[in-house]
Amino acid sequence: MIPLEEAREYVIGSVSPLDTITLPLNETRGMVLVNDVASNEAVPPFANTAMDGFAVQSGDTAGAPTTLDVVGTIAAGDKGDVPVGPGQAARIMTGAPLPPGADAIIMVELTTFSEDGQTVEIAEPVPAGNHVRSAGEDIEPGDTVFEAGTVITPGHLGVLASLGAYEVEVRRRPRVGVISTGDELVDGPEPLEHGQIRDSNRRTLLALVEENGFEAVDLGLVRDDKDSLTEAIQNAATTCDALISSGGVSMGAFDFVKVVLDELGEMRWMQIAIKPAKPMAFGFVDDMPVFGLPGNPVSSMVSFELFARPALRKMAGHPRIDRPWVQAIASEDLLRRPDGKTHFARVIAEYVDGAYRLRFAGGQGSHQLRAMADANALAVVPDGDGVEAGGIITAILLEIP
Ligand code: AMP
Ligand code: MG
Repeated sequence: MIPLEEAREYVIGSVSPLDTITLPLNETRGMVLVNDVASNEAVPPFANTAMDGFAVQSGDTAGAPTTLDVVGTIAAGDKGDVPVGPGQAARIMTGAPLPPGADAIIMVELTTFSEDGQTVEIAEPVPAGNHVRSAGEDIEPGDTVFEAGTVITPGHLGVLASLGAYEVEVRRRPRVGVISTGDELVDGPEPLEHGQIRDSNRRTLLALVEENGFEAVDLGLVRDDKDSLTEAIQNAATTCDALISSGGVSMGAFDFVKVVLDELGEMRWMQIAIKPAKPMAFGFVDDMPVFGLPGNPVSSMVSFELFARPALRKMAGHPRIDRPWVQAIASEDLLRRPDGKTHFARVIAEYVDGAYRLRFAGGQGSHQLRAMADANALAVVPDGDGVEAGGIITAILLEIP
């Protein structure tokens, strides 16, 4: 068995970031910026009011209460060509341009507008700049707004849209093919014959690929025979950036996945000192990375988390490839037996009184997918007897509780 870190370094170290592509802004959420983004424009583009109220010369309010002549109304979207002179005010709505001459806004709540609309009474003095959002207060022309390597979130999309950056250069999303292998597997709701099970891994792995922002390609359920596997893998190599298979990587006698992958590519078959997910294959067919995940449903998910996800994130250019690994407290005994392996227990993490607290999510067999489905974290239980309630333990957060 090889240590987890060695296997991870090998897999993650073998892949490289994909090429780049210029895409319409609305297709780039979750992708990674290739270049620094510099602004050509100011945001806000013009001085404007943060409040509904009246634009005034602040000096005129010094002796408030005072009455000013109303010279016009400026709505958001107007050009704001309503010069405000001494003793004058312009009615103004949030987002409208500050009119020439005015240097402050008095909010509507501190004013009384006359019935005839000719005058306004100002209740309190306001300083220059009051409620004025000046041009470029958020972004100045020439600012570096975001750096290369930024992961585009909804907020970043908004900023880029506000700058008129409707196309951006990003690292391409890996297109990831997923196959299931195994003669016992069936796809569909029909009654099972004795010896058959339904293919669950493909649903899960396709969803994991998608959930992580990669493009998922369903390449189907492939029979454990040389021709079907060869065809499926060759097809993947011409259409995908990476392939994830599940099944056929352990010591079984009918594991043709091994034979075919060894024929078509360069694979390393690993036995890793972890449980679940001890067997794992990684290598290349042509230039396509292949993740040969174990068939047991929990193992395939844990293997995806530990190897495929970080490697695919590296291909997508992500600066941080791993989930958060945090210190947590065992809220019940998280026991195990010594076996030379690090265990990844399926747990439920709760954040209570300033700490993550872990309890088992259910049955811990590698075929017991239910507990993995309910888990929001993996407890990293080092070789030994585990930890007792109250002990400190590392957890990988699959979701932030
Ligand atoms: P293997 O890695 O092919 O030896 O499979 C290990 C275990 O995982 C066996 O019990 C298989 O039946 C099961 N298995 C393999 N592939 C899948 C799948 N796609 N969905 C559900 N179970 C699977
Ligand atoms: Mg099999």
